[in-house]
Amino acid sequence: MIDLEQPDWPAPASVKAFVTSRKGGVSKPPYGALNLAAHVGDERDAVEANRALLSKKMELPSRPVWLNQVHSNSVIQVGCGMSDLADADGSFTREVGVVLAILVADCLPVFLCSLTGKEIAVIHAGWRGLAEGVIQQGVKRFSEKELIAWIGPAIGPCHYEIDGSLRHRFPQEFSRKGRDDKHWMLDLPGIATRQLMDAGVSRIFRSELCTYCNPDRFYSFRRDDRTGRFVALIWKQA
Ligand SMILES: [Zn+2]
Repeated sequence: MIDLEQPDWPAPASVKAFVTSRKGGVSKPPYGALNLAAHVGDERDAVEANRALLSKKMELPSRPVWLNQVHSNSVIQVGCGMSDLADADGSFTREVGVVLAILVADCLPVFLCSLTGKEIAVIHAGWRGLAEGVIQQGVKRFSEKELIAWIGPAIGPCHYEIDGSLRHRFPQEFSRKGRDDKHWMLDLPGIATRQLMDAGVSRIFRSELCTYCNPDRFYSFRRDDRTGRFVALIWKQA
């Protein structure tokens, strides 16, 4: 059975969004079971079967627009008939029926939606994307001013260990001391929340689930290295 995480946010009913978990697919370990990424070493047939299963169960109006995620700050606008795998880490649309998709396993999936539901986006943000301003670039795509955001399951400050050099890329309040003087724990959801606020998004909602803490539900690259990816999908329904 497919087990989904629904964003708890006040988006209009016409905006559909969810995050998958690892449950309900056909991939074998270490990708078990609902791996949706074709670039992580899983069998191509298994990934295709999982994508077909998801599409059917969730009654997706079209094939998701998959991106070639490169930890950049590029957020592209997509429309109907858009071809796959542009190099980008976020996508935006105003069109009904276009399914935006981001693959993650620790990095933050961030949904954005205007209060009217006319404009939507999804963003993939790891530390590099956050440092490069992917959140700001995503917000800039919107012409409507009142936006809401939801930050999905991602590696939390309980498990995201970094070294001192990375720490200085972000305000110091987002890191705390780790196991010794050389290691720090970084709060990626906290950084994303601050960046959303600074970009003018006042209504921000968060899942608070840590991917590393939940091995039964979520893939975590930091925890498992060779593993699958789950997906964050958003679209406008007719
Ligand atoms: Zn954790």
